[in-house]
Amino acid sequence: MLEQNLWGAIATVPQFDGLFVFNPLRVVFLIAWFYLCLIITGSMEDSPIMPKRYKQWLNIISIVFAPFVFFGLYAIYIYYEAQRQQITTWEMLKKVASGSFFGFKRHIAGNSTGNSVELIDMSGKSFDEIYGGDKRKDDISGILSLAETIVWDCLNEQASDILIDPVSSEKYTVRFRIDGQLRVMQEVDKGTCVAVVNSLKALSGMDIAERRKAQDGAFSARHDSGVASFRVASAGVVNGEKLSIRVLSPNTDLYDLEKIGLSGKDLKKVTDTLSKQHGMILTCGPTGSGKTTSLYAMLSHINAYERNIISVEDPVEHPLENISQIEVNTKADVTFAKALRGILRQDPDVICVGEIRDEETAQIAMQASNTGHLVLSSLHSNSNFSAIVRLMDLGIKPIMLASALDIIMSQRLVRRLCDDCKTKASLSQEQTAKLESRGINTDKIMQPVGCVRCGDTGYRGRIAIYDVLKLDTELKQKLFTDGVTAGKVRQLGENIVKPRLRKQAMKHVLNGLTTFNEIKRVV
Ligand SMILES: [Zn+2]
Repeated sequence: MLEQNLWGAIATVPQFDGLFVFNPLRVVFLIAWFYLCLIITGSMEDSPIMPKRYKQWLNIISIVFAPFVFFGLYAIYIYYEAQRQQITTWEMLKKVASGSFFGFKRHIAGNSTGNSVELIDMSGKSFDEIYGGDKRKDDISGILSLAETIVWDCLNEQASDILIDPVSSEKYTVRFRIDGQLRVMQEVDKGTCVAVVNSLKALSGMDIAERRKAQDGAFSARHDSGVASFRVASAGVVNGEKLSIRVLSPNTDLYDLEKIGLSGKDLKKVTDTLSKQHGMILTCGPTGSGKTTSLYAMLSHINAYERNIISVEDPVEHPLENISQIEVNTKADVTFAKALRGILRQDPDVICVGEIRDEETAQIAMQASNTGHLVLSSLHSNSNFSAIVRLMDLGIKPIMLASALDIIMSQRLVRRLCDDCKTKASLSQEQTAKLESRGINTDKIMQPVGCVRCGDTGYRGRIAIYDVLKLDTELKQKLFTDGVTAGKVRQLGENIVKPRLRKQAMKHVLNGLTTFNEIKRVV
């Protein structure tokens, strides 16, 4: 742990990021080291305590060996880090050579950000313009840099949210949600953090003087690979004011239907339905299971067919090309149901309803599907058949479901094991025997370790798992008989088509991509 702290400390000094990846600065560092040796030997020359005849030898020794001591210490560190990560020293060296190990993340220690990220408000004004150029140089420069560093780190870590909360009367924490899990990134003293909160509020177009009432706002950040948008919400709490910042999907590659993790068969079921003129696809899962990503991927896929696509969302998470996106705004009385009624007068071919939450929305969506529109939507439910139960509870008649619904897909996101530190799982003899008796090969099963790259969690990134259910005519006839109850549909359905989420997830465990614990947690 000590070594890690030491290296962590070095990593916070910007120019030492990735100490052993080639960089001209590091050559300068070694030359400086060499000169330091010369200076030391030079001063030894004049030292009265050193007998003259040894001086020459001592000079040679210190010049030759100082760099070796340096590399020796480094070798010892590599050896211990390899032990800690349970990999061979050779593998550790390869990691270092590829630069993957010393790709240090920057910490929010108030270091300067350089020009890696530029924060701008919704009208395109930069931080400097809002605060005035010269002010930046003096008193608030550190605050603005800290705000930039937080945003930069958030993008770098691919976090989905930034939470800034007062935890006591003197301290605030800055936390990131990474792969669905909250991680404390930094504790900041109240004075500094209140200033950071204020600067972000100003940037987001909020009233800085208002500290109690909840406010909403937004800002953007220009960075190396594009522009990311952020949605900000503030709220007054006991010890001050908290800020929740949601990153609105900076990465558009996400919305490629072929890359979201559907298997070949499932992908075909979905694309076949997307090419139809009418019908309905529902994505299901708890909050944070990637439903919006699936909807966006499907919308992006249809886009190529040049159809009139309109979507109602709460909120719009990412602007999509050639698609009219309407945002739900309850304050302005734009609800899902009201927006949907409006949309239907616009002669759409495809309608996306961000989420079905109430009876009215459910009814309109079903009717739209039945009147020649392709409808995509999401529902908060645990499985395919519980989605049907949910819709029936919302007052949708079985006959309506039978004619409107084509595909229900349940989904979850499981955390992916970090490739840099995962290691072969140590299973007990009993576990191994049990798995092998079921014909399962346990060779590839891995377990998490934790390293600098994954913030010591052992996981980095996520994998989506799906259970795609196509409701064909035969199945519909069996399920949606006259007067059937919701409970009965579920029972019948799960007898005919077994839920597959767990099975899909297990495949990833057996291939060493995730773990049993992760699946237990999520599915
Ligand atoms: Zn790792």
